[in-house]
Amino acid sequence: MSASIEIRNVTKRYGGLTVLEDISLSIAAGEFVVFLGPSGCGKSTLLRMVAGLEALDGGTIDLGGTRIDTLPPGKRGVAMVFQSYALYPHMTVAQNMGFGLENIGMAREDIARRVTAAADVLEIAHLLDRKPAKLSGGQRQRVAIGRAIVKEPKAFLFDEPLSNLDAALRGRTRLELAQLHARLGSTMIFVTHDQVEAMTLADRIVVMHNRRIEQIGTPMEIYRRPATRFVAGFVGTPA
Ligand code: ADP
Ligand code: MG
Repeated sequence: MSASIEIRNVTKRYGGLTVLEDISLSIAAGEFVVFLGPSGCGKSTLLRMVAGLEALDGGTIDLGGTRIDTLPPGKRGVAMVFQSYALYPHMTVAQNMGFGLENIGMAREDIARRVTAAADVLEIAHLLDRKPAKLSGGQRQRVAIGRAIVKEPKAFLFDEPLSNLDAALRGRTRLELAQLHARLGSTMIFVTHDQVEAMTLADRIVVMHNRRIEQIGTPMEIYRRPATRFVAGFVGTPA
């Protein structure tokens, strides 16, 4: 299941400070889009507005042609995976993965079925009875992704999900995320400050800087034809 995302003229202020200004962006159903930019440029804020964790100060957001920025997070059809994983320490892996579904009143058998299916996809079926403290970083990461998968969202939102992994595991998980995208065909937005992650994962990269979008393009377009000096410097190509 996947759906297009339409971000129109979105603005965000914290106090007197404008952190995002008149952002517009169309994401096709099934597309893997990466928000790339330096720390503080507003990537997480924009993602959190899609997720419903931050209010907009202007503009609209549609998912699959339906306006969602006025809906509560649980009703939007999107699922977010956090950098910190945000697992509940007192719950098992299975309980962590099913918790969001329990909250919306889904029947126990349906939850179990979805959790089992997601655990199979992520190859963590043998860990379902463990607590997070007994998991490696990579395994916790999978559980966090599993918790999103069981919601069967129309779009996945990832906020720097690989940042807490060591280099080797990061590379492997990157590959697995690409495979997951191919398998599920879902729309994915992936936030990172890491150029390599962006280049290897994205159908299109949205380069952000100073409250605005600097450039939108395929990795090859961004690499070969950076639109601004900033983009050229940030993706590390000779201008
Ligand atoms: P990024 O994810 O690209 O590092 P953020 O979206 O987290 O950037 O932050 C964008 C800007 O908004 C930064 O200047 C940050 O300090 C500011 N900011 C983010 N969240 C808040 C908040 N809750 N209150 C005030 N300022 C915030
Ligand atoms: Mg961030």
